[in-house]
Amino acid sequence: MSTSLPALLELLAGDLSPGGVVSGADISERHHSDWTRQAPCPPLAVLRPRTTEEVSQVLRRCNAVSQPVVVQGGLTGLAGGATPRPGEIALSLERLVGIEEVDTAGGTMRVLAGTPLGVVQDTAERHGLQFPLDLGARGSCSIGGNISTNAGGNRVIRYGMTRALVLGLEAVLADGTVVSSLNAMLKNNAGYDLKQLFVGTEGTLGVVTRAVLRLYPLPGERLTAFVATDSFEALVKLLAAARATLGGQLSSFEVMWSDYYEYALEQLAVSNRPFGERHPHYALIEIEALDPAHDTERLGDFLAQLLADGVAADAVLARSLDEAARLWRVRDAAGELIPRLPNPVAYDVSLPIAAMPDYVKRITLEGAALLRGRPAFIFGHLGDGNLHVISSLHSYADMAAYDGIVYGALAGIGSVSAEHGIGVLKRKWLGLSRQPDEIALMRSLKAALDPRGILNPGRVI
Ligand code: ZN
Repeated sequence: MSTSLPALLELLAGDLSPGGVVSGADISERHHSDWTRQAPCPPLAVLRPRTTEEVSQVLRRCNAVSQPVVVQGGLTGLAGGATPRPGEIALSLERLVGIEEVDTAGGTMRVLAGTPLGVVQDTAERHGLQFPLDLGARGSCSIGGNISTNAGGNRVIRYGMTRALVLGLEAVLADGTVVSSLNAMLKNNAGYDLKQLFVGTEGTLGVVTRAVLRLYPLPGERLTAFVATDSFEALVKLLAAARATLGGQLSSFEVMWSDYYEYALEQLAVSNRPFGERHPHYALIEIEALDPAHDTERLGDFLAQLLADGVAADAVLARSLDEAARLWRVRDAAGELIPRLPNPVAYDVSLPIAAMPDYVKRITLEGAALLRGRPAFIFGHLGDGNLHVISSLHSYADMAAYDGIVYGALAGIGSVSAEHGIGVLKRKWLGLSRQPDEIALMRSLKAALDPRGILNPGRVI
């Protein structure tokens, strides 16, 4: 680097709004890592632009001197992508926030990238609409982070992943070029769909600064049921029955293995347990009701039929929003449980539902010698073929071996990342899920858009 760091920061301080450059002891520990807390590292400085023009100026200057930059949103990622590596400056979008426009007729919303997902959801609701992307970190994660990681979450079964909810984007390339592709139309086949370059590419090809999001009608009410089954086969039957009977109203189908469920209840200090007895599997089912009274009856009939057919071992229907929130707490707790475990590791794998029982058996058996009594919690989005595994290692020295077990069992059948992305932690496993020609094309795109390799270097590829 030809320019010294102090000289670069001085130039940037002149470019950015007051408070735009934070360095030295003033850098909050929050910026040292994402939620994994693995390999925390203080960035050389934290840059906090307030506008797209400021983001552009930051990247132009960093690119000119080949200064690597790590992009940070809400820092809730689980793949180490936003954790600084030595010698990186953090580009935080925490001040690039706000809703710019809600078009109720067109069902769209234009937002700045640092806006928390929860704010996007609440704003849509105030306009009688919904932004259906939902995940446990909704209060902290930013919409820009959701887009650059193509976040999944709890309603993919009904609305798809983030990609399906983004109509247009504005992004800044490594050299500071602003690409404005703020399309708000549902249909637009005029040339390449450039926004896809920035959705799910984890900030390696550009920094998302603005987005036009797709909104949906707000349901009359969300109805929640909790069902216990005595086997995985019954859980699969339950999913098929829910799809057939509840159709397009089915918005979530979340499953939990009993170890996760018991640990969550214990950690949340839940006194009134949903069920008296223990069962091997649980499913949290949510439907979007158009006519709450009628649909409550329909969901109740569905549960009664499941019990009569022996598919469900037990079932409860939430009778109030409060009760529904209590049931969802058990599933949403995953994010807050991770930091409570010593040396936690989190996985989000994708595989065919039919392969799941053998997969779980295999990683449990092979992992036992490493975990030596430590837990491996399993839960996830069954309808999406996505399981989460959270384990607690005796030491991170065991991580490579444990990764090898969890990922190795996926070879030829699944993906090492269903929704969290590759980041740093899964980079060496990318080849298990992608062909060499695919990875070569990813490298070509990276070289074309970021020839100096300053944007999130060492992430994904
Ligand atoms: Zn998930």
